[in-house]
Amino acid sequence: MATFRQRALNEAATHQTGRFFVEEGPVSSYFGKNVFDLDKMRAYMSQQAYEAVLASVKYGAKLDRSVSNEIASGMKAWALEMGATHYTHLFQPLTDATAEKHEAFISVKEGRAFEKFNGSALVQQEPDASSFPNGGLRNTFEARGYSAWDPSSPVFILDGTLCIPSVFVSYTGEALDTKVPNLKSLQALSNAATSVVNLFDENVSAVHVNLGLEQEYFLVDEALYNARPDLMLAGRTVIGHTSAKDQQLEDHYFGAIPSRVSSFMKDFETEAYKLGILLQTRHNEVAPNQFECAPVFCEATKAIDQNMMLMILMQKVAEKHHLKVIFHEKPFDGVNGSGKHCNWSMMTNTGVNLLSPGKTPTKNLQFLSFYSAVVKAVYKHHYLLMTSVATLSNSYRLGGHEAPPAVMSIFSGSTLSGVFDAILSMKDLDDASASQESIKIVNSIPEIFPDNTDRNRTSPFAFTGNRFEFRAVGSSQNVASAVYVLNTAVAESLREFRSEVDALEKAGESRSAAILATVRKFISESRNIMFEGNGYSKEWEAESEKRGLRAVRNVPEAYEVYHEKETVDMFDGMGVLAPNEVEARFEVLNETYVKKLQIEARVIGDICLNHVIPAAVRYQNILIENVRGIKEIFGEDFMDHCQSEINTLKKISKYINDISKDVETLVEERKKANRIEDIAERAKVYSHSVKDMMDKVRYSADHLEMIVDDEMWPMPKYRELLFF
Ligand code: ADP
Ligand code: MG
Repeated sequence: MATFRQRALNEAATHQTGRFFVEEGPVSSYFGKNVFDLDKMRAYMSQQAYEAVLASVKYGAKLDRSVSNEIASGMKAWALEMGATHYTHLFQPLTDATAEKHEAFISVKEGRAFEKFNGSALVQQEPDASSFPNGGLRNTFEARGYSAWDPSSPVFILDGTLCIPSVFVSYTGEALDTKVPNLKSLQALSNAATSVVNLFDENVSAVHVNLGLEQEYFLVDEALYNARPDLMLAGRTVIGHTSAKDQQLEDHYFGAIPSRVSSFMKDFETEAYKLGILLQTRHNEVAPNQFECAPVFCEATKAIDQNMMLMILMQKVAEKHHLKVIFHEKPFDGVNGSGKHCNWSMMTNTGVNLLSPGKTPTKNLQFLSFYSAVVKAVYKHHYLLMTSVATLSNSYRLGGHEAPPAVMSIFSGSTLSGVFDAILSMKDLDDASASQESIKIVNSIPEIFPDNTDRNRTSPFAFTGNRFEFRAVGSSQNVASAVYVLNTAVAESLREFRSEVDALEKAGESRSAAILATVRKFISESRNIMFEGNGYSKEWEAESEKRGLRAVRNVPEAYEVYHEKETVDMFDGMGVLAPNEVEARFEVLNETYVKKLQIEARVIGDICLNHVIPAAVRYQNILIENVRGIKEIFGEDFMDHCQSEINTLKKISKYINDISKDVETLVEERKKANRIEDIAERAKVYSHSVKDMMDKVRYSADHLEMIVDDEMWPMPKYRELLFF
């Protein structure tokens, strides 16, 4: 009888390369085809309705009920022409995924069928989503949760369904998603940043955030994936011995893209273009079968929504190619994990990148103001920021040697570091010669930064010339939950920056002296977060501790930061999350952590008892049979001829015993932990006792994999999963 694995390997061998999504003509001819963008709105709506949407998109103006009917009817007309039959409010609950409930347009009145979609269906829906995590914000008996269109993100058609990007709030108005706090944080940042920019330029009236999200992922053949219950249920392999060859030759990174993969990439790019997602780069990543794609950066809300869509799209397109996309941060032990590098910058409504050093001293002073405010924000909330990317799945990656370290730091590059040193070493700023000197320093910032030559890939938060790259974000994460922490922290810091400058001006300082003094103060207060060296080194671990930087070594312990006054005050003070909304997130994070670990623990138990041990026993029996035969032939002397078999038998018995014992303990530890009422405490116990037992079980299973006859091993091995 063929094993599960052999059948899967045979099936995988029949999977071929091909193209399934092809559009005629150049990309520009179909780019954005499936999006109801401003141009289409203009064509399908009256001038008045169009202007109302425009005001809402640009300035967040509220949409009037009367206009919403007209907008809905325009949308419906377009959607029906495009062949859509359903619509859905697409929202982003606290699960890192998107949620959708489809409604048909079709309706019947007095025996006649017609398509129905009006303003209230567009603007608000009650999806009765009582089973989404809400951290106690919504009791199930009062299960109403409302989703409402977020006009800053355009509607689009996917799979014959009109998708309406939405916020998700409770009956009493609390945010039940990641979108609402993100929108609020962007508003807070815009207000605070505008007040600082106005020190230099009165014409700026808003500041927005630009995001460029690099998405890493693994690809696995569908048949092999289906033969791995752990990949299917937990998104990662919970056992599996490393392949003799994986990434040590560094031959995969930027290597030639395998043709099956490149066909898949071209297909999902075509579909992404139709949704207006401007994908620009694609390449092989460091680990075998690991890849990356990145769009051109755009405004934050759109970038986040598009990233969520892209993940769904990639999965859908992969089905045609008999591939599975693995977004998990660490699907395979021993090779690199995946992240979602988050390139972040601020831009004025007049088109100026505030993190781009300029040509003149004034522009440079403006740049330094924003830079120092970010540095101070990241320093003050460094532990919270690191915690914002702390999930069970990302914890398998963070702090390992290929991933950003567990402690936050900022890399500025040698040029900027030199500028900061000079600013800090300046004498009294009132001194006329010092002010001359300061102008010289500010003036000396070169316009263009040496790019790739001056990059530090071990830094979790690196400046790359005109933006920061937050590199610790996980590949499966909805980046909104990290981005709104960053936005809020920077907003808080910019607000402080402005009031410092105002106070100094009031005390009689000139404006530029006041600004430079504030830059100096912010930089000098935050020096501890600046680190130019190797973030993976032992020295940095010790050094960062000496500097008082807090590392995220244990995820549920880190979640306690949501209870700290500085966190609660920041969110509340900036109007992003009320204290009960922060508490709800704390609950949900712990709950999710426990549930995911519980699934992993069950999966490893099942796999070991139902797949690994039976295979090992079968092989054990063959060996026993073999020894018996040898004894028959050689009689007394048989031990001289089967020492190796006996040794193997001993090892197998030991590993089988260990696994049985350890799985039993694992189940007991889980049960014990489950009895703990408090979810945060339960998560902490899980993170130690359950995780430790899983490591033990894996150790024995992976050793068995090395011993048992390859023909009998039940599940695809790393070397099969990782190479096409
Ligand atoms: P690398 O891997 O070298 O960092 P990529 O080209 O893969 O570079 O990704 C860089 C990302 O940063 C892209 O999404 C790009 O559009 C984005 N980006 C470039 N400039 C900015 C900026 N000013 N603000 C935000 N994102 C930016
Ligand atoms: Mg990058």
